[in-house]
Amino acid sequence: MMVRIKGKGLKINLSVIFVCLSCFFVSAQQKPYTIIMERINLDLQVGINDGVLTKRINKNLPALLPDGSWTDINYADAQYDPLNRIKDMATAYIRQSNKLYQNKEMYGAIVKALQNWLDKNPKNKNWWYNDIFYPQAIGQTLILMRNAKTQLPVELENALINRMIRKLKTGDGANTSDEALHYLYRACLTQNKATLDSAAKYLFEPITIADGKEGVQVDGSYYQHGKQQAIASYGRVFAGNSVNAAFYLRGTEYALPKDQLAILVNYLKNTFLKTVRGSFYDFNVRGRGISRKDSLSSGMGGMVGKIKLFDPENADYWDAAQLRTSGKKPVDYGITASHSQYWKSGYTLHLRKAYTFSVQTASSRTLRTERGNNENILGKFLPDGATNIQRSGSEYANLMPVWEWDKIPGTTSRDYADDSGATVLKEWGIPGSTKFVGGVSDGFYGVSCYDLNYDSVQAKKAWFFFDQEVVCLGAGINSNAIQNITTTINQVWLRSNVSTSNGIQKNGKSEVWALHDSIGYIFPHGGNLEISTKAQSGSWYRVNHFQSKTELKHNVFKMWLNHGQNPQNGSYQYIVVPGIDVAGLKKYNRSMIEILKNTDEIQAVKHTGLNMLQAVFYKPGTLNADGLSLRVDQACTVYIKNINGKNPTLYIADPAQQNASINVLLKLPAMLKPQNINCNLPAGALSGATATFKIKE
Ligand code: CA
Repeated sequence: MMVRIKGKGLKINLSVIFVCLSCFFVSAQQKPYTIIMERINLDLQVGINDGVLTKRINKNLPALLPDGSWTDINYADAQYDPLNRIKDMATAYIRQSNKLYQNKEMYGAIVKALQNWLDKNPKNKNWWYNDIFYPQAIGQTLILMRNAKTQLPVELENALINRMIRKLKTGDGANTSDEALHYLYRACLTQNKATLDSAAKYLFEPITIADGKEGVQVDGSYYQHGKQQAIASYGRVFAGNSVNAAFYLRGTEYALPKDQLAILVNYLKNTFLKTVRGSFYDFNVRGRGISRKDSLSSGMGGMVGKIKLFDPENADYWDAAQLRTSGKKPVDYGITASHSQYWKSGYTLHLRKAYTFSVQTASSRTLRTERGNNENILGKFLPDGATNIQRSGSEYANLMPVWEWDKIPGTTSRDYADDSGATVLKEWGIPGSTKFVGGVSDGFYGVSCYDLNYDSVQAKKAWFFFDQEVVCLGAGINSNAIQNITTTINQVWLRSNVSTSNGIQKNGKSEVWALHDSIGYIFPHGGNLEISTKAQSGSWYRVNHFQSKTELKHNVFKMWLNHGQNPQNGSYQYIVVPGIDVAGLKKYNRSMIEILKNTDEIQAVKHTGLNMLQAVFYKPGTLNADGLSLRVDQACTVYIKNINGKNPTLYIADPAQQNASINVLLKLPAMLKPQNINCNLPAGALSGATATFKIKE
């Protein structure tokens, strides 16, 4: 049917509305099974390249033995294959665009291989394959084959559907939704209401906020395996499954309820997608997955495109995110400045159009980044203030095999002679060792701190986040270890020449700078700076025993400050200026940054250009500078905006998450006498969050 109205644009618009309305009308009348199954079917074929698919099948199909098995597969410990091979064939069989569409020989192979699977009933030692991957892959194959001209034999299909049945492990976050997804497949295949009811319930079960439990936290971060930051590791599974579920069930009686939609949208928009620069993840959010090949490639485009169909309100945002993460638009497309302090997870994320800068820390309230199943073997120092600095996004992508793992960017640690020192000895996460870990934020700027006491190294580390730059301070660096103690500035792909100021020299005391790959580094007090641009070798196996042993060699830019052996009260300071060239760095107005104090009691930076002050008080104390006086009666992080202007504002947080209130005595330069501000802090689940106080002038 066609609605003819004058004016081309109007006609098209109305047609679209008309088509949508008719879809809705049909969907309201039909049982949901058919609609949902058709959505899953189409979704399974998104991004399929027929040429690539056919090539794979042409390799696997002739190798199939008459009994429906493959010789190169160990059925006693089957992983993705043979089910992925069978799914490939089912996909090609129903696609008119594929050369093997309705191919009789391949149909026979599909039936034989499925029958063989049924008879053998393979099991893997890892429960994930048995309870998640196998039933999901079987369900997907059966759904695809429902679109075939010649359907699978009924007995075979029924037996396979029965084989998909598992008992759901509820309350297990991303794993629960993963299992509920094959319930959804089975519900559609059997048109069973009870199965669909529980599938919908458990698909959406993880979309909730339960303080301290696994899943989404009140600060927008994500926990799994205890109180461990898992934003784009298990949080990626959670996001993907929840998006798929909401996408499949939209517009039906099973659609995602509004309050849960708000939680999911907030997680995707304000946390998850912010950790992707261009199409690459921040290395700080991948958990032990950092040790897998391609694990920083987000592969996000398909998922983001679905969101606007169940959240049309933010359609513009999702469109921009899709274009950006799929590489169709530049990495800064649709990026707005933000600063997020995830005080539950020890994670700080600072976003600007020109760069992403994040920090990961551990505290006695959280677990350090886990090693598990022999993955992330060398990630011992990952939560010790690791800084992820991205411009293009790909700075660290697939560099992990050749990383020197006791020189993770941002961290202060012992410099061991070999990998043994960076090896994580206990699996599944170890609690952090200190409590003064966190920071203060107004959503755009902030300061974070980390009281490091690990592996016989102590340091007070802090990061001050502004627009053009991030100031990194370290103080109270002590160790009695026999190794040198180093603070690594960065370790990334070598992408350009390294430019340095003429004054660069070991053990220098005057200001020097270095520049690599459009990121400037300024060292106001010099230091014992070392730079390497040599090739480094290693294999994925070195960091993950499931990965390839192939030896790789990559050119790496690595820069670190060497504090030497037995440092006593050592310190460092450097300013990172991303998005700059040599000429820009020479013109850069360094005088805007005043490092007021860098001791193990107070670290404070004033930014005169932005008219703000940020400070970390590791104990009660007073800071006096430039006619400003700030006294606090408890350890805290403080940030004052508009110090010399109208409407000054005080932001304060307790990183130790133990004080109900903090008393501040503040005298801004324009004040005649100091003001007493009694700052009541957020409590309960919000303990550690920032409190805001407008200051009367
Ligand atoms: Ca080393």
